[in-house]
Amino acid sequence: MSKGIENSEHNSGSNRVGNDKIAYLGLGLMGEAMAVNLAKAGLNVVGWNRTPGKPGAAALIAAGGKVEKTIEDAVKDAAVIFTCLGDVGDVEQVLIEKGGVCDYAPNGAVIADFSTIGPDAAKRIYDSLKAKGMYFLDAPVTGGDVGARNGTLTIMVGGDETAFQKALPALEKMGKNVKLCGPSGAGQALKLCNQILCAVNMISVCEALQLAKRLGVDENFVVDVLSAGAGGSWALSNLGPRILKDDFAPGFALKHMLKDLRLVFENIDGNSDSLPGTKLAQELFKKVGEDNGSDSGGANGARGTQAMKLAYD
Ligand code: NAP
Repeated sequence: MSKGIENSEHNSGSNRVGNDKIAYLGLGLMGEAMAVNLAKAGLNVVGWNRTPGKPGAAALIAAGGKVEKTIEDAVKDAAVIFTCLGDVGDVEQVLIEKGGVCDYAPNGAVIADFSTIGPDAAKRIYDSLKAKGMYFLDAPVTGGDVGARNGTLTIMVGGDETAFQKALPALEKMGKNVKLCGPSGAGQALKLCNQILCAVNMISVCEALQLAKRLGVDENFVVDVLSAGAGGSWALSNLGPRILKDDFAPGFALKHMLKDLRLVFENIDGNSDSLPGTKLAQELFKKVGEDNGSDSGGANGARGTQAMKLAYD
């Protein structure tokens, strides 16, 4: 492995954090914004996206990065490899299946995945990559599309301290609150707790707006006045205004929330009775998805989680 990005920081006279190659696989909504922030910070970023021609690739090039056509070309010689993909199967396919990162990344590479996949999957991937001489960090994020664009994400990391230290200078270009939370799987465990906070909180935002309407008070006041009070929340401040404008664009796609709530229950052996509030949120999100003919999202699933409001219409 090359000398490590932390050792080459502070090159005199420039904002570059060394020339070590950083690969970024998955230039979707989150990946695009995060990779762009790395490139804007002067890092040597090489991106890859499964489907060519998506906006993320052009945005990364415009920010000073490069884009390769294959995983092999993107990750060969990379010191650090970031991924931001979809569900468990997607991350396993890109990282540990034949033709994936495990076949082409250099020995000692640090691979950090920002997708939400739950602790069980993270530990499996950690073991599989460790057997091939690579480090794996589960590094799910929270802060949404806004946090990704602003470089203010919270990044919850699970894995080895050595690997964390190697990835940290680059992680700090994408997040303001970057924490090693424990061994492999710890970041994902925390992220699932976070998803409960987000999902159940969305019920309260929708129901407060619903009540305001029923009681004949201006719904805008729920956002404008109550955001600063004890009932305020990220969801109320950021998604409340979108609900009031019937703006259901993602943000955080409903299909991803359904995935995450499925992961919550899978990671506790399907015992949904122990988390009744989470179960209700899952039912409401599903109702919105199913209204459009699919329990895993469909066209409504591509909408943001604020589309839960449609379950109350
Ligand atoms: P997105 O916009 O749908 O992007 C997904 C990316 O993953 C795309 O680049 C897609 O490539 C790629 N991908 C998916 N499956 C793949 C596969 N099997 N092989 C190769 N590439 C694959 O999703 P996102 O909103 O950025 O979210 C990505 C991850 O971050 C998810 O796990 C989500 O739960 C998590 N997350 C999202 C947010 C948020 O606010 N959006 C916040 C926190 C965490 P194509 O272009 O080829 O489809």
